[in-house]
Amino acid sequence: MSGEATRYEAGEAFARRMDAEDPLRAFREEFLFPRHGDGAELYLLGNSLGLQPRKAQQYVLEAMDAWATLGVDGHFKGSRPWMEYHLSLGEQMARVVGARPLEVVVMNTLTVNLHLMMVSFYRPTLERSKILMEASAFPSDQYAVASQVRHHGYDPAQTVIPLAPREGEDVLRTEDILEVLERRGKEIALVLFGNVNYLNGQAFDMAAITRAAHAQGCRVGFDLAHAAGNLRLSLHDDGPDFAVWCSYKYLNGGPGALAGAFVHERHAHDASLNRFAGWWGNDKRTRFLMKPDHEPTPGAEGWVLSNPPILQLAALRASLELFDRATMPALREKSVKLTGYLEFLLDRLPPGFVHSLTPRDPEQRGAHLSLRFSKDPQRMLQTLRSEGIHCDFRSPDVIRAAPAPLYNSFVDVHRFVDVLDRHARS
Ligand SMILES: *Cc1c(COP(=O)(O)O)cnc(C)c1O
Repeated sequence: MSGEATRYEAGEAFARRMDAEDPLRAFREEFLFPRHGDGAELYLLGNSLGLQPRKAQQYVLEAMDAWATLGVDGHFKGSRPWMEYHLSLGEQMARVVGARPLEVVVMNTLTVNLHLMMVSFYRPTLERSKILMEASAFPSDQYAVASQVRHHGYDPAQTVIPLAPREGEDVLRTEDILEVLERRGKEIALVLFGNVNYLNGQAFDMAAITRAAHAQGCRVGFDLAHAAGNLRLSLHDDGPDFAVWCSYKYLNGGPGALAGAFVHERHAHDASLNRFAGWWGNDKRTRFLMKPDHEPTPGAEGWVLSNPPILQLAALRASLELFDRATMPALREKSVKLTGYLEFLLDRLPPGFVHSLTPRDPEQRGAHLSLRFSKDPQRMLQTLRSEGIHCDFRSPDVIRAAPAPLYNSFVDVHRFVDVLDRHARS
């Protein structure tokens, strides 16, 4: 995927050369960086809250202006009528995740979408009630799953199968996931994985997991909070039944931004699928006939409940335009090099100072590395902060560093490890 492995060099001159040759280097100028002293912060948190695209404010103000000058007519008039606003974003989002436009919709927030998808795709029966997921799934996903299980009258402790890495290992082996599916697949109603795992940075083989789960008759969903805008996804071809993701991480849609949902085309016209319904998911041709029965719009849009928040869509539009210009293949190509470079430099730090939990194989990870330090992680973060470097911490002892290919540079990565190096030797 990434072509030939890059040969890295430790000196800063190498980082400068890589930046000079980077075809995506101009995108950095499209973002607003938090300040540190007289300069910009070194921001390695694209996996947590992506930076604000310069255009976001303009687009939000344009929507405010349409509201001020057009009132309710803004739904149909102006440069971007609200009735269609979410459609072009859905198409852009579909390109980001490798899906067909029909399969993707921008709506709600991530955990809400996970619940809506589970209403349709987690239909437990006495013989088949279990949910297979990572033991270290993101807490919100664990809460959503447990509450759905209880909602159906089952006991989460008996129903959720949490999959943990082998003793002494940091990440799950694909073969172990496939083995559980082979052995227990007939009891499993839903397979749900967080791709990329938020804590250890592991990317899963979506095609293999989906194939094995479908062969057992299970439904398959992915939480792509840490994959959308990060990995090269092929949702349509890999074939899970659904996927959900937020767009404030790598997708830079702003705090609490509208999230994405994918429903595979094979379900697009199945009006018999159980779902929670609202008027905005009703077929457009009959929506305003105000009829008593819900006729779902074909595809993912059939899961929309409400008329969408335009101000949020406006902010997200600024970022998705950048993804369209940069394209996911080019972003991923840079990302593999950038994170590989980070790993290369970390390997040269004094032995025992830092351990990365994240797989070394680029195919099994995205942009971020999860690091465990021999020194107190909170003090490490303080040190980094005082030097203008922003990473984050996840309990109990993991520091995550995510060079985002849209706005981070090779010099950023070099500077980060340079500060770590000084701290390791102090
Ligand atoms: C960030 C993240 C969430 C957050 O959910 P919200 O509903 O957007 O607050 C949920 N799940 C995963 C895996 C995440 O990484």
